[in-house]
Amino acid sequence: MRPERLRRTFDLLTAYDAFHGIEVSAPEPCPEEALVQIHSPQFVLAVKQIAEDPHHPHAHRFGFGSGDNPIFPGMYNASRLYTGASLQAAQAVVQGADIAMSISGGLHHAHFDCAAGFCIFNDCAVALRELRRRYHRVAYIDIDVHHGDGVQELFYSDPSVLTVSIHQSGRTLFPGTGQPEETGTGGGVGFSLNLPVWPGTSDAVWLHLFEAAAMPVLQAFAPGAVVLQLGTDAHFLDPLASVNLTAQGWLQAVRLVQSLQVPIVALGGGGYCPTTVPRMWAAAFGVLFNVPLNEETPPAFKDHNSIPALFDGTPPNVSPSQQSVCEQFSQAVLQEVKRSVFPIHGLS
Ligand SMILES: [Zn+2]
Repeated sequence: MRPERLRRTFDLLTAYDAFHGIEVSAPEPCPEEALVQIHSPQFVLAVKQIAEDPHHPHAHRFGFGSGDNPIFPGMYNASRLYTGASLQAAQAVVQGADIAMSISGGLHHAHFDCAAGFCIFNDCAVALRELRRRYHRVAYIDIDVHHGDGVQELFYSDPSVLTVSIHQSGRTLFPGTGQPEETGTGGGVGFSLNLPVWPGTSDAVWLHLFEAAAMPVLQAFAPGAVVLQLGTDAHFLDPLASVNLTAQGWLQAVRLVQSLQVPIVALGGGGYCPTTVPRMWAAAFGVLFNVPLNEETPPAFKDHNSIPALFDGTPPNVSPSQQSVCEQFSQAVLQEVKRSVFPIHGLS
């Protein structure tokens, strides 16, 4: 989660000269009023206190101090900045922009009153809440390899926010949730859509599941705007997970979301391979902002030698038996979603 991921992405897009006619702005810290619409006031206060006192007696209770959420200097302000960036992106859309991007956001594991999985404040939820000021229905689409558990949980009973997450099965990866049977609660039943995939899943199977399960529900729901979490960790080179996507396969999902033709707030997310994250986010930027980018990266880009091209030449090798296991798993998920979620949206 080092800021180098963001810097390299920005450098790559700058080398492409991709920011013409696009407003680039520095983030403001997220106001506390917006944080407490998503998180408990006790948690927000605790983050502030723990940032100043790493020996705070309740640090552990609020999720800090473990391997995933170490306490670091400036933690409260840094968290307010990435959250403020996503809030500003949502505000831009509320004010009429078709697309806005907050690359430092997408911290989807943060809970109501607990930090988790590298995430402190849930900027995705803050952005969704902001969009709801203008739109009656908004959708959250999460293509990170990990389940978007924090966002799902925060809107689990809310039928005005459809959450969609395609991720490596929780049986094999953090955070362990995201089964297709998790569809919402109370009035929100049918408005949480979970599409787990089996380790080893490659482009065709992943995309087919997204297209056959997520797209009809999204079209039927007809959101006024979308928050798109662009985790890149489903790439085959990612060290934290075992899904086998190529950059170009992953990008097809971004194009599908764009085909909904509604305003998009695009957020960053996971992705831990330093040569894949910048090119995948740059490619997503190119699609979303309609800026054509050459397949070969600019020679002026200082990481040109380690990132010579946007896309992957040779997809990973998947054995026929592994492919078949992945296909069967994905078919079962599709059937379950068709049984439990489709009817709620008038689909069969
Ligand atoms: Zn992730």
